[in-house]
Amino acid sequence: MATGCLKKCKCGKYYQFFIPKQRQEDISGMSKDERRELDFSEKMDGELEGLEIFARIFDAKFVDVGNLEAFQCPCGRVFDIDALINEPQRTTSVVIPKKEAL
Ligand SMILES: [Zn+2]
Repeated sequence: MATGCLKKCKCGKYYQFFIPKQRQEDISGMSKDERRELDFSEKMDGELEGLEIFARIFDAKFVDVGNLEAFQCPCGRVFDIDALINEPQRTTSVVIPKKEAL
């Protein structure tokens, strides 16, 4: 299950942030390597495409946060990626159905 965080900027623009498991250090019982592998297999399974499709539905820009510290909207607002990862709103994460199910 790929983790996405849909955010609306104050300017009205929507962003679909993709948060790789690598950045989610609070996943219990998983080493960094295991999380990296999970990211890789999710990519292979087309889950990122699922998130991109979801982003399109909301007319949101898809942003893979990767190793980004922050992301800035053209309007000037800065999204702190670590804050994004840690905020409880992350529970709005969506389970993306497998490609063939869409
Ligand atoms: Zn903005």
